[in-house]
Amino acid sequence: MRIRSDRDAFQNAMAAWYAEARRPLPWRTQPSLYRTVVSELMAQQTQIKTMLPYFERWMKRFPDFESLADAPSEAVLKHWEGLGYYSRARNLHQLAKDYVAMDPKPVSAEEWRQLPGIGPYTSAAISSIAHNHPTAVVDGNVVRILARLTNDERVFKNNGEAVKAFTELAEAVLNSENPGDHNQSMMELGATVCLKQKPMCTVCPVFRFCESAARGNQDSLPKIQRKATEQVEIERVWICHEGQVLLHRIPEDAKQLAGQYELPKAFDLGLAPSGKPLATKTRSITHRRIREKIFRLPAEGVTLTSEHQWVPIEAVETITLSGPHRRWIRELLANGNKSA
Ligand code: SF4
Repeated sequence: MRIRSDRDAFQNAMAAWYAEARRPLPWRTQPSLYRTVVSELMAQQTQIKTMLPYFERWMKRFPDFESLADAPSEAVLKHWEGLGYYSRARNLHQLAKDYVAMDPKPVSAEEWRQLPGIGPYTSAAISSIAHNHPTAVVDGNVVRILARLTNDERVFKNNGEAVKAFTELAEAVLNSENPGDHNQSMMELGATVCLKQKPMCTVCPVFRFCESAARGNQDSLPKIQRKATEQVEIERVWICHEGQVLLHRIPEDAKQLAGQYELPKAFDLGLAPSGKPLATKTRSITHRRIREKIFRLPAEGVTLTSEHQWVPIEAVETITLSGPHRRWIRELLANGNKSA
């Protein structure tokens, strides 16, 4: 295994490349512990290019742990709107409150893991980048790079199993003098060079260490079994009445999207619409392929539950809606669907 036997040369190659090639991201050009924490939480399920405007907006409104800790939860959720996976915003809010109250402050990855929303990857990233603590980050990017560098053809049941299998190697090749930059160099290589499809091996700084590129089978690694795609059909309704639209408010104790509004599901209102839908939307979430049909129905005869509310159409922009629902509602309103 070349990266083990020639570890210093591997680390030097990664360090030299990262110093030259790293993207000037705002949490790198103006680094701080707080900016590192926010960027890591935002990046958990969102691509960097998508999160950049949200990050800038967030920093203007909540520039430090204290301002975030003091903010009302509605303002926090509003500034997260569009990024999805809102539990991250709630966790970040609670983390700021906990962090402000903590004494002493967390430094090691183990200490950071005690805070809300911080798992093994994020704790390793924060403690290594902000505190130079020697813990390796291991996620899908790092697994891919290490599997290819070592031509590891083992088949893993899922990402979690692969992450566990490569943790020892990631720790073994970690540059313990400069763990933050080493970890970021691995993330950067996975994001910009060692891509899932069509890795750019000809410009890769560690090509000479790469055992799969030498054999030409890098595209097939890592070998992780994929879940079969599940098809899901959802019927939603568009019901307007006297300048208001009927929306569903997701309960506060829901595991996902708590407190947010969405277009109601027909089933929840005891409705079974038929005919041509106003719109049909498809999206994929992990292994689920979701097709949502939106039907226009009259307000008469609809029996509301405590989770359904009439919202004035002019107030729709001020409430917290999940990203797709906001897009759909804007589109429906723009197409003139303002009445029953
Ligand atoms: Fe990935 Fe290619 Fe570099 Fe190997 S040489 S680490 S496959 S980009």
